[in-house]
Amino acid sequence: MNEAPHKVDHIGIAVKSLEEHLPFYTQVLGLKHLGTEHVESQHVNVAFLQIGETKLELLEPTRSESAIAAFIDKKGEGVHHVAIGVTDISSRLQELKENGIRTLQDQPVPGAGGAEVAFLHPKSTGRVLYELCEKK
Ligand code: ZN
Repeated sequence: MNEAPHKVDHIGIAVKSLEEHLPFYTQVLGLKHLGTEHVESQHVNVAFLQIGETKLELLEPTRSESAIAAFIDKKGEGVHHVAIGVTDISSRLQELKENGIRTLQDQPVPGAGGAEVAFLHPKSTGRVLYELCEKK
């Protein structure tokens, strides 16, 4: 069995516009903006903000077919997922599947910040979308 995960790597938050929401985080809360990158595979712009040992990840859809655009259409802006930092993501994913947990990806996929990520199906987790995230 894999060792228990020991940190929340980040919390993902869906926003319609980074430009509109970033000032709250940087100017009002005073968090450090670590950078913004475009993740083409998921049709999103992603901004990371450092908050203590973890991060907030603001996700702005760049196309209507983005899963984040669909989320905002259905539920509005807000908390989208919780990312659990893990090591050896492939074996962790395999172990979860063996325990009957549904996943959205069979294999880890490239995520923001050079991480490998995979999502667990909310139907298997009490309706929380969890991301497994391994930083290389
Ligand atoms: Zn994430």
